[in-house]
Amino acid sequence: AVQITKMNKWFGTFHVLRDIDLTVYRGERIVIAGPSGSGKSTLIRCINRLEEHQSGKIEVDGTVLSSDLKNIDKVRSEVGMCFQHFNLFPHLTILENCTLAPIWVRKTPKKEAEETAMHFLEKVRIPEQADKYPGQLSGGQQQRVAIARSLCMRPRIMLFDEPTSALDPEMIKEVLDTMIELAQEGMTMLCVTHEMGFARQVANRVIFMDQGQIVEQNEPEEFFNNPKSDRTKLFLSQIL
Ligand code: ATP
Ligand code: MG
Repeated sequence: AVQITKMNKWFGTFHVLRDIDLTVYRGERIVIAGPSGSGKSTLIRCINRLEEHQSGKIEVDGTVLSSDLKNIDKVRSEVGMCFQHFNLFPHLTILENCTLAPIWVRKTPKKEAEETAMHFLEKVRIPEQADKYPGQLSGGQQQRVAIARSLCMRPRIMLFDEPTSALDPEMIKEVLDTMIELAQEGMTMLCVTHEMGFARQVANRVIFMDQGQIVEQNEPEEFFNNPKSDRTKLFLSQIL
């Protein structure tokens, strides 16, 4: 689904991503872990071109991300993204948040877009909130709306960047449960998260990044019980 080869990115003179090689196969559930500043968000953001890379290649479902912006809408509509801060449009209702992109980007008829939106709001278990505004919902509910909104574009892969880290503890579980269900249905997922329980339960592969590099990757069992590099061991000793 995603193929990254020898990818490098700089912010000015700062070399933030170094020789990233990463292939995400369809149906994979990958968790990306690593210390603050290691480049996790930047990597995720390069995949849907919120950031531009300078060398190497990123291919999303056969489309090569290039500096001309012609294919950017196609890539964005196939790659769903959920951030720490949900970025819902505050002046639109929940339903309108979910139908905006399908109507304007995908040219889906309004009625059909609304049916799809209700389908996914039911899936994340908040159909009754459809006519409210984001400010009237809890953080966990807003994040589930953000997930539903992404799903309305029928993405082939979902990127998550710390979707639970701004939430109160009692709301983390409801968002993780939604993500677990998505994984069980076979969605291809790339998740930056500090939720190592989620990683153990859901991921088929855990990737550890440090200083802009992929230092180590393995299936969760091996990754947690038998880390290879000293940097991974140090990281795990600090968070587990
Ligand atoms: P965290 O766990 O804190 O979210 P991260 O692994 O997601 O960290 P990134 O946000 O990818 O890290 O940042 C990687 C490095 O790039 C950091 O040193 C950060 O300061 C730097 N950086 C990020 N965005 C920019 C930018 N727009 N301009 C310059 N430097 C940036
Ligand atoms: Mg980050």
